[in-house]
Amino acid sequence: MKRIIAPKGTKDIFPPEIAKWHYLEEKLRDYFPRFMYKEIRTPIFEHIELFQRGIGTETEVVQKEMYTFKDKANRDLTLRPENTASVVRAAIENDLFNRVYPLRFFYIGPMFRYDKPQKGRFRQFHQFGVEVFGDESAQVDAEVIYSSYDFLKEINVRDIQLHLNSVGCENCRPNFLKHLRTESEKRMKELCVDCQKKIYTNPLRIFDCKNLKCIEISNDFPKIIDYLCKECGTHFEEVKEALSIFKIKFNLNPRLVRGLDYYTKTAFEITSSQLGAQDALLGGGRYNNLIKELGGADISGMGFAAGIERIILQLDDVKHKKDKMIFIAYQSLPLMNKAIQLAKSLWDKGYCVYVDYNLKNLKKQLKKANKIGIDYTFIIGEDEIVNESISIKSMKNYEQITIKQEELDKWLINNI
Ligand code: AMP
Repeated sequence: MKRIIAPKGTKDIFPPEIAKWHYLEEKLRDYFPRFMYKEIRTPIFEHIELFQRGIGTETEVVQKEMYTFKDKANRDLTLRPENTASVVRAAIENDLFNRVYPLRFFYIGPMFRYDKPQKGRFRQFHQFGVEVFGDESAQVDAEVIYSSYDFLKEINVRDIQLHLNSVGCENCRPNFLKHLRTESEKRMKELCVDCQKKIYTNPLRIFDCKNLKCIEISNDFPKIIDYLCKECGTHFEEVKEALSIFKIKFNLNPRLVRGLDYYTKTAFEITSSQLGAQDALLGGGRYNNLIKELGGADISGMGFAAGIERIILQLDDVKHKKDKMIFIAYQSLPLMNKAIQLAKSLWDKGYCVYVDYNLKNLKKQLKKANKIGIDYTFIIGEDEIVNESISIKSMKNYEQITIKQEELDKWLINNI
């Protein structure tokens, strides 16, 4: 029979890699609430209009990458390609803008984009991210950027670079786009077919192109930073100043425009030099018009989304204290109940314990412990029962000690 395999661009996550996911999830649930973020969970699918209106109809994501399907009632539904639009929708629909304070949310979950899979790029991938609503200060931009950068440092992701830009606003961007269009039209024939189209649909996206020739040509194009209006210019200066208070270094990157239409003013990305072509670990920025565009009040937004698969690629092996595994072996069948009692007391305390109920022979149990990769085997035999003791065998160096039962808690604290 033909084997059924997972759809292209998806992947199963299982041990030992799953330990890194647990580690990351625990860390972020501990870290982001420090900044007053509260978790929000939104549905995995939404009405297609949410993303068309939110992300922009001319973006790559909406044009080429959405998983849209009709349900039985002929509705067009889309598997979410990102979560900001959904968080905004949820906040408007549930009146959170008037009910929750401060307006800060974090999320974690799967996203879906139909793109060509490659290292670090999947069709189902996972993001965590934060959103801050109703705070237009440059300082909050710096705080959001700082928290994303510092979090990566806290979980030991090395060799990261922060890229910063401003993409202006509805007042200054049109003038910039006009100049950009004029300049790109002059070099149209040298650009790839995709970029030629972008000149008329969304010239800003030319800077996203990975084609080397297009990169070389667009390096000569006007830079948005030179066209910022007074308000955007001042805001950007203040962001840079605030970042220096947080003591993090950044590269000014005029090519950083981000793939989604809703960004205004600050845009940032953190990359890793160890990742190859798909080097962005996370990206985000300010989006002052999205909430209004989705039918909400005139409230600003600022946030980022981080790619968990790419961060996991950068994490060292994770070892939890409780990852140390204990096997409880019994010398003969009548002692199995004693083994169960001991195992129960250890599970109650949160330790990771295995008892094999089928192998009656001690030698076979030790063999099994070895196979599983157990750290310590606790042996219960006749002598141990008489002396109220436990024999402990290290499965790494096979040294064995015998301790009194009352000394067990101390031993566990020192060794597990
Ligand atoms: P974006 O929502 O496009 O700004 O992406 C934010 C982050 O999500 C990126 O920096 C990546 O780390 C991650 N990401 C985006 N698309 C994918 C994908 N197809 N596969 C894996 N990670 C992705």
